[in-house]
Amino acid sequence: MCYCDKPEQEILGDLKRGSVPDEALLRSCCWRKIRQVRGNRFHEIDDGTWNTLCDKRVQLNARRNPAG
Ligand SMILES: [Zn+2]
Repeated sequence: MCYCDKPEQEILGDLKRGSVPDEALLRSCCWRKIRQVRGNRFHEIDDGTWNTLCDKRVQLNARRNPAG
């Protein structure tokens, strides 16, 4: 089961706690879903939390694809 198959409510909870798994940040299908959840509930997830998540994703991608 993919992370993006989880209920939106659960993904939202992970977003708020900053506990989205690294795997989900790296998979494009999951990231699309995460962005969708954030788009629907942007008032519930503050910019700081969201920016931290985006930064983490960039770092993870850089580590996985050092050649860029
Ligand atoms: Zn997925």
